[in-house]
Amino acid sequence: MDLNTVTEVISPAAPGCWRPGDAWLGGGTALFGEPRPDVRRLLDLTAAGWPPLTVHDDGSVEIAATCTVAALYERLGRHAIVRQCCHAFLASFKIWNVATVGGNLCAALPAGPMISLAVALDASLLLIGPDGAGRRVPAASFVTGEGTTVLREGELLRSLHIPASSFAARYACRRGSLHRHGRSAALLIGRGSSAGVILTVTAATRRPHVLRLPADDLAAIPAGDYVDDVHGRPIWRQHLTRHYAAQILAELS
Ligand SMILES: Cc1cc2nc3c(=O)[nH]c(=O)nc-3n(C[C@H](O)[C@H](O)[C@H](O)COP(=O)(O)OP(=O)(O)OC[C@H]3O[C@@H](n4cnc5c(N)ncnc54)[C@H](O)[C@@H]3O)c2cc1C
Repeated sequence: MDLNTVTEVISPAAPGCWRPGDAWLGGGTALFGEPRPDVRRLLDLTAAGWPPLTVHDDGSVEIAATCTVAALYERLGRHAIVRQCCHAFLASFKIWNVATVGGNLCAALPAGPMISLAVALDASLLLIGPDGAGRRVPAASFVTGEGTTVLREGELLRSLHIPASSFAARYACRRGSLHRHGRSAALLIGRGSSAGVILTVTAATRRPHVLRLPADDLAAIPAGDYVDDVHGRPIWRQHLTRHYAAQILAELS
């Protein structure tokens, strides 16, 4: 991306800094990857000094939006589901070292594996508005479409809170892509529960879908919600979704 419209980098940035024409900056690996002629100032969150990851006494975990994928892997990689989601990036360690968990959620790409992880782990997200007021939203409702989220003008994602029970659950994960190291065309995560399987469908669809199997029917996902791009046709993504959902249900049942 040409940065010739950017006149200033505010580092470190705080919620109150925001004004029209600003963009919050995480690792910049998505932001600098496409033209953003509207951006005048970059508000650098990575310099804010937020502790990347905090384990609370009750076993719940707070992940700062600025936590890099590499730091997440290092601290929580003992959990298979965390490892699998980190490896679901179409990106090497070079990107892992700068890309942030929050940046992945806010970029809201269908193939955002930190979105998949946050939804599957039942994370709650802390958002801070320009006036410093906070609100919490479930990860499952944060992404609303391709590149769109519930973030309001000037609002930032501060952190993800993951309950301790999420780390004790059993998971099954399936990922499909046109190429071995290609971008995810479908990423499904099942979580075993006493009431069946809680299935998170991502990458195949424009936004995450959460279903309870076997009660819910995959037909509840509208056909128009399947992504159509160079990484896979909607009909194939729909097929992968059904195929993987059946495998996950069998594995966790
Ligand atoms: C080779 C390569 C492979 C990639 N593979 C994938 C992939 O497989 N899947 C995928 O999803 N992405 C992929 N990406 C894109 C990108 O690397 C990731 O989405 C990454 O996680 C973005 O994080 P970041 O910290 O760099 O975000 P940034 O680029 O800094 O920010 C992304 C967007 O979110 C906003 N933002 C950032 N942080 C916050 C915050 N805390 N609050 C509010 N808004 C914020 C920014 O303003 C910007 O609009 C890839 C990129 C490259 C270069």
